[in-house]
Amino acid sequence: MASNRNLLVLPGDGIGPEVMNEVRKIIAWMGRKRAVGFDIKEDVVGGAALDKHGVPLSDDAMKTALEADAVLFGSVGGPKWDNVEFNKKPERGLLRLRKEMDLFANLRPAKVFDALIDASSLKPEIVKGLDIMIIRELTGGVYFGEPRGVTTLANGEREAIDTQRYKTSEIRRVCAVAFELARKRKNRVCSSEKANVMHTGVLWREEATKLHKEKYSDVKLEHMYADALAMQLLRSPGQFDVIVTDNLFGDILSDEASMLTGSLGMLPSASLGAPDATGRRKALYEPIHGSAPDIAGKGLANPLAETLSYAMMLRYSFDLSKEADLVETAVENVLKAGYRTADLLAGGKTPDVKKVGTQEMGDAIVKELDRLA
Ligand code: NAD
Repeated sequence: MASNRNLLVLPGDGIGPEVMNEVRKIIAWMGRKRAVGFDIKEDVVGGAALDKHGVPLSDDAMKTALEADAVLFGSVGGPKWDNVEFNKKPERGLLRLRKEMDLFANLRPAKVFDALIDASSLKPEIVKGLDIMIIRELTGGVYFGEPRGVTTLANGEREAIDTQRYKTSEIRRVCAVAFELARKRKNRVCSSEKANVMHTGVLWREEATKLHKEKYSDVKLEHMYADALAMQLLRSPGQFDVIVTDNLFGDILSDEASMLTGSLGMLPSASLGAPDATGRRKALYEPIHGSAPDIAGKGLANPLAETLSYAMMLRYSFDLSKEADLVETAVENVLKAGYRTADLLAGGKTPDVKKVGTQEMGDAIVKELDRLA
């Protein structure tokens, strides 16, 4: 169906194409049943692009990504390309997309589905109903700051340097994403840094506070040191709604939070850029997991992380909240009905579990969408 929604699909390597095939079924369903169409372009990325073009992302694909309203990404990498030179590694394709699209805000929801509550490493009463959104600053901070590198000192010792730098504008734009998102959720933001020991932390706290006062005073803002937050995420995660933090702390805290939910196969993410004149942001949606070479081609991959990434795309790039809710409800109901891919079986205690493969899980979602519609 022709539409003004331009989507670039990059399935990638390993299980990427397998889980993307299941999302295609949902895309087709949305076109048929809800008149939600996309103009879809598809290209190769990662190892697949390396095989075809000799680079992990072609200039053509990069151009298409910059023109698209959203990019739906699978995963990249695998043993076949483990020994290629650093600049050609499959992951460089994803890093190029993030950099050239200037995707500075990484959104990682940590939501516990009731049906999978036993898969969490925490007690059910602590994680029940958990629904946190972690926003990690993605393009600044210590992973990029100069000077950086390893040098040899006059006495022969070696010294390594990484530099944590943040500018006002970098802090404000990611905090703005957090405040705006909180308004659509429970209206609470926890901003996290280490203002007690780091200058970037002091600036982060001052700028978050200033922006809050200027534009978002209707949202409840609190500040928490990152180490305290790491503890609170395990002690009492239900107190959080939206958490916003820098690149390094966000990397660690979002992994910690995602494990509260149990399985890698369930976790979506979104990376957003700055809004253009029409308010639309460049955006890339992808599951947290990698290309899972150990199960690729076996029909075992859980397609729900990619499915939930697609739901995030509907919500954040196209303002289709009802359709996003529908997909998320279908996922919840299918889990409630006992459908489990192999990765979800370990912690599951549901009595009548139905063990399914990738395609059966995708089909179950479409069937549930039919029932809900
Ligand atoms: P991985 O996420 O691919 O796999 C870790 C474990 O989780 C494996 O046992 C895998 O079978 C399982 N798993 C992951 N996703 C699953 C799913 N949807 N359903 C069922 N089980 C699932 O991480 P890894 O093994 O460290 O990396 C494998 C490759 O993926 C490497 O080449 C790595 O560089 C790449 N990688 C890519 C991305 C990305 O594309 N964004 C992210 C992480 C890793």
